[in-house]
Amino acid sequence: MRKIEHIGIAVKDIEASNDLFKKLFGEAHYKTETVESEGVSTSFFQVGPNKIELLEATNPDSPIAKFIEKKGEGIHHIAFDVEDIEAEIKRLQAEGFTVLNETPKNGADNKLVAFLHPKSTNGVLIELCQEKK
Ligand code: ZN
Repeated sequence: MRKIEHIGIAVKDIEASNDLFKKLFGEAHYKTETVESEGVSTSFFQVGPNKIELLEATNPDSPIAKFIEKKGEGIHHIAFDVEDIEAEIKRLQAEGFTVLNETPKNGADNKLVAFLHPKSTNGVLIELCQEKK
């Protein structure tokens, strides 16, 4: 893994949160994207070299809706930038981590993504992401 790519925050109302985080960071989000296959609308903020992703559920069965139901709003995942996501998935499986999707899927912001089950990572949902070439 090379660096933290972004931190994902689950929110109930992304419009309201876009305003809130704009005040916090002093700058508006630079893009929004809906990933219908994942049931999420997202928006991205750049904070210096770092990125923050806000996630709102687009339907009641969305993983974000379920997360907010259980835990409330807050930090949802930490995403790490990887050079070769397939190699990294194999490496982490060999180390005993539970990978939720063995085949990388399309994520927001032009990325291939895979998630590690939080039960295998001390309760933290980890996202691996590789920039699509
Ligand atoms: Zn993410």
